[in-house]
Amino acid sequence: MRATFISSPHFAEHSLGEAHPFRPDRTVLLGQLLERQGWLGEAWMSVVEPDEHPLEAWEHSVEAGLIDALQRASRGEVDAFLIARGLGTDECPIFPGVADYVALYCAATMTAVRLVLEQGATLVFNPLGGMHHASRGVAEGFCYVNDVIIAVDALLAAGHRVAVVDIDAHHGNGVQDAYWRDDRVLTVSMHESGETLYPWRGFVGERGEGPGLGFTVNAPLPAGADDEVAITAFDALIDPRVRAFAPTVCVAVVGADTHRTDPLSHLQLTNNGMVALMERIRGYAPQLIMLGCGGYNPQATARAWARMWAAANRIEAVPDHLSMMGGVFLGAQDLEGGDLVDMAWRVTGADKEAMMATVAALVQQAGQPG
Ligand SMILES: [Zn+2]
Repeated sequence: MRATFISSPHFAEHSLGEAHPFRPDRTVLLGQLLERQGWLGEAWMSVVEPDEHPLEAWEHSVEAGLIDALQRASRGEVDAFLIARGLGTDECPIFPGVADYVALYCAATMTAVRLVLEQGATLVFNPLGGMHHASRGVAEGFCYVNDVIIAVDALLAAGHRVAVVDIDAHHGNGVQDAYWRDDRVLTVSMHESGETLYPWRGFVGERGEGPGLGFTVNAPLPAGADDEVAITAFDALIDPRVRAFAPTVCVAVVGADTHRTDPLSHLQLTNNGMVALMERIRGYAPQLIMLGCGGYNPQATARAWARMWAAANRIEAVPDHLSMMGGVFLGAQDLEGGDLVDMAWRVTGADKEAMMATVAALVQQAGQPG
């Protein structure tokens, strides 16, 4: 095992605006939590700063003009071309240094790729990455440039067989579109159904086209889904497909906006459910890259990511109430909003039955050809 956590003091330097839900500084909270748990200190672990990369380094993975548009936006220019590229909207606001911010998270993701390709890393986590909504040409959904695509393009160029496993609450539309007709990449997304949540897509019938038919897999969860519903859907719709594909590298997009306290989704997972998913994902390929993505309750997101990192490293988290000894609390006690390990929480009764029936119907639909 060779595991690297990517971190930088610059991660917290950028803000999309006071009122914007996307908070890059969650990553600092995560780093502090990992330090305190001792989850960056094992012999097989390292903490690495992103390599220096200018934005132009990604020009081969994005459409002409987008990088230039970002640089002009960063200088405070606004024009119709920028708006047409999704820049300068409420979702993707222009702010001073926006080009530096995008360059930083893309560089952090490419550092993960370099460690996988050149250093034999078995696990690398860039919590600032995972901008799965942007297409190759247009920014959307808080995502300016899609670093998942940049990573996958580089892994493919090196001859890898790549599975992107996206468990963020939102459908990974930008990644799906980039490899829609490509059989070298399996793109898998489990998310809240497009019937109730942006980007209003990601239905079971979306399966790819041409040579890519069957290499796109979607598992839309009903609003309100809890750990059991999510795990049931994942095990039926996703797990066997990824194992059959047998990727050499897995890129996991691990947004924690599935959490029941998240203000932007209507899912109700706990971090126990997210750990259960990570326990499956960690076995999919010899090398795993984790990218942060969404999560709009910063505390819940940091806790979930800490536990997912631990799970990927095969470390067991002990519930904080078990670490009470003689009245002295040894856990993550001063984190706002509770323990590191969430209390179990489940939907019951007719609501649960209805959600399980929805999942069963999806499994049946997915099993039909075409
Ligand atoms: Zn999301």
